[in-house]
Amino acid sequence: MASFEARSRHPNLWPPFTQLATAALPQRIVSGKGSLLYREHGEPLIDAISSWWVTLHGHGHPVMAAAIAEQAHRLEQVIFADFTHEPAERLGERLSVITGLERLFFSDNGSTAVEVALKIACQWWHNQGQPRQQIIAFDGAYHGDTFGAMAVGERNLFSEPFEQKLFPVARVPWPSTWWGDEAVVEKEDAALQVLDQLLETPTAAVILEPLLQGAGGMAMVRPEFVRAVAQRVQDSNVLLIADEVLTGFGRTGDWFACHRAGIQPDLMALSKGLTGGCLPMGVTMASERIFQGFVGQDPALTLWHGHSFTANPLGCAAANASLDLLEANPEAFRGFEQRHKQHLQRLLNHPRVGRIRLTGTVAAFDLNVEGTAGYLNPAGPTVKRIAMEHGVFLRPLGQVVYLLPPLSTSDQQLEQCYGAIEAALAKL
Ligand code: PMP
Repeated sequence: MASFEARSRHPNLWPPFTQLATAALPQRIVSGKGSLLYREHGEPLIDAISSWWVTLHGHGHPVMAAAIAEQAHRLEQVIFADFTHEPAERLGERLSVITGLERLFFSDNGSTAVEVALKIACQWWHNQGQPRQQIIAFDGAYHGDTFGAMAVGERNLFSEPFEQKLFPVARVPWPSTWWGDEAVVEKEDAALQVLDQLLETPTAAVILEPLLQGAGGMAMVRPEFVRAVAQRVQDSNVLLIADEVLTGFGRTGDWFACHRAGIQPDLMALSKGLTGGCLPMGVTMASERIFQGFVGQDPALTLWHGHSFTANPLGCAAANASLDLLEANPEAFRGFEQRHKQHLQRLLNHPRVGRIRLTGTVAAFDLNVEGTAGYLNPAGPTVKRIAMEHGVFLRPLGQVVYLLPPLSTSDQQLEQCYGAIEAALAKL
């Protein structure tokens, strides 16, 4: 018991995704500025993974802080049934324009944004009087930790205790690709064949992470593949759900991965960068056609779903301020890919580096190391420890090392990130 308390540093906290018996002690962060996290003890660290992929404009951004503070003085929270408010309306107008999806439904995080998309898709068919059972997702997917989101995600160590409680999902292979991959077209064709077969069964929805599977190992596919999937889904009159919780708001070099791939989904789940990564909020965008399927005199048509903090005004104010910043300087996300590229090229022939891939602000590669590929590969913690000694916070996914820095990251800081990676590679 004593050792448990010592290891968790605080006897009352239960940290996420952490086995306390073996994890290193967490460090106390006292403040953040730009891409830097300031520790109670030790030098500042570059937050090279945007604190679980959320922090978009950097920590402690004055525009974000001012927008949230101003809103807190005006209206911090109000029930969103019977009432509405200006920050929510403005966000709805803006997101409908940039996503091409007219209706916005609020929730609290990425998992709930996905849950809502799945519930909307299933109930839409139900409301049409043609309920459909099958949902199709991709191998390696991660859509969140609530039950519906877990069901559509890859079944693994994390979901194993709940396996019997998760609804069945049909799976399509994910044809990951990387620099110099010569088998990509073959892999894509094989995946599309599986999809074609599955689409012969009446299907409510296909859900995918467009261009980039995050937790599944920063596994990227070509825009051509995403387009081919969307085409088949739409030709089969099946709903397409884009989980852009990670990829939204510039991460893949365009406003949304769907834009970069050139597709228009029926439903889109957003979170993380939505509020610039400052406050927890999720939204599910839906087309007007989908929305109209829930409108009518019969109460059974209603989407009976909601959360206490629906459309929290602080979150909406943060989201509007974040959109202001993105609109003021789209080059910050559009130009990031080029900045990564020059560094990645240096790693191209490193014997420890394989499968280099890049989209927008996200750069990744696989370590050529012993052991089973996956989240528990021991190379990850080693790279993390060495990078931290070089002032950079990384959190590899097993043998997959990646950078996903905030837009505030300077050239010098990016250089430091790659320097820390090279130092870790030298010691492996
Ligand atoms: N979808 C994707 C693509 C994600 O990357 C994540 C989180 N990493 C989620 C959903 C779940 O979001 P949250 O952790 O906010 O529930």
